[in-house]
Parts: sequence; C-alpha cells; structure tokens
Amino acid sequence: MDVAKNLTEIEANIKRACEKSNRSFEEIMIIGVTKYVTIERAEETIDAGIENLGENRNEGFLEKYEKIGNRANWHFIGTLQSRKVKDIINKVDYLHSLDRVSLAKEINKRAEKPVKCFVQVNVSGEESKHGLAKEAVISFVEEIKKFPNIQVVGLMTMAPHIDDKHEIRKVFRQLAELRDEVRTKNYSHAPCEYLSMGMSNDYSIAIEEGATHIRIGSKLVGK
Ligand SMILES: *Cc1c(COP(=O)(O)O)cnc(C)c1O
Repeated sequence: MDVAKNLTEIEANIKRACEKSNRSFEEIMIIGVTKYVTIERAEETIDAGIENLGENRNEGFLEKYEKIGNRANWHFIGTLQSRKVKDIINKVDYLHSLDRVSLAKEINKRAEKPVKCFVQVNVSGEESKHGLAKEAVISFVEEIKKFPNIQVVGLMTMAPHIDDKHEIRKVFRQLAELRDEVRTKNYSHAPCEYLSMGMSNDYSIAIEEGATHIRIGSKLVGK
C-alpha cells in the first residue's frame, strides 16, 4: 500500500471527472478516511499531501487526534450518539452526520463555537442507512435554526452498494437538487453550499454530479 501512489491515481480520476463536468479541480476536497488503518498510515496520508482526515467512531477519532492533532482537519463521518457528543465536538472541524434534532440540541449545548455540519440524507431510502428522508430535510433545517452553534454547510449522502451506475448517479443528482432547494431559502444559519458524496467506488460519478467533499478510504489508504 503506497498512499502517495494511490493519491496520484485518484487525482488523475478527479481531474478527468472535472473536465467531463466542466468543474475545477480546486473545488474538490479529498477527505482521507482512515477508519480502517493505523496511526502510522494516517501519518503517511498527511505526508502524501492530504490535509483532511475522516473517522467514523469516537474511539478511532480520539486515538488519532491525540497523535496528529491540528496537523490535519478532522471530519467526523459516522453516526454520533448524543451522549458522546461532548467527547469530540470541540475537536472536529466538520460533522457529516447531522440527522436529528436531539443531536443538534446536544451539539448546541456542548460546542464552544458554531460547528460546521452536513445534514445526512438517506436519498436511496434503504432501511439500513442513517439520515433524514429527502422530504424531511427542509423542515429539519428550519427547526434547527434556533441552535446558534449549528451551521449547516451542506448535505451528505451515501449511495447504495450496487453496480448500477445510473442508479448511483440518480442518488447524487437528487442530493444536489435538494442542496439547491435549501440554498434558495437563503437561511443565514444554513448557507448549504457543499455536497459531501462519493466514496472509493463512486467518487467520479459524485464529482460529475457536483460533489465538493469526497470521502475516500480503501482506495487511498487501504483497509
Ligand atoms: C467508510 C466510509 C467511507 C469510505 O469508504 P471507502 O469505500 O473505503 O472509500 C466514506 N464515508 C463514510 C460515511 C464511511 O463510513
């Protein structure tokens, strides 16, 4: 596993997807998802030039954060239990999994400054997936306006694990449309500029559909 070599390949794919969709490479943030790997591999990822790391569990995040600290920006991408908010919320730079009012309330209480959050949406409607139903997103964003420490910077989704590229594309396209809808509301607490979508197997499609933050684990750092 050579992270720098993987990154070269991924960047070439990103450039290709950007050209296809008339976007610029600078718009895309690569989040290196280190949840499967050691601290050493996370360090290697930083050395390869990745400035943003993603973790999905409190324990894994805190372990790496202790060693790496602010040499990376930290993205929490997993389900967050309300009772564990206090352990991590003032250490992460972005939360990608805001999906309920009770969680927003707890973050608002524990955070020392506004937290940049992505609202997680279950676009595909699979039962196994976390996130709000598409139809619930606007009213959710309106409801959390009362929490000054919540800032909605974008929407996040995970595409289903299927081979049908057309279906995957449809999921990403729907998230982009929903993001546009939130933006037209001009909420001051929810500028909602960004789209966190695309993982190892589908990031090219996600970029073609407007992704600004792609979360790449296995194809970048290994398993
Ligand atoms: C694990 C994970 C990823 C990265 O998955 P890969 O397929 O290994 O790239 C991205 N997003 C979330 C929310 C994850 O849990």
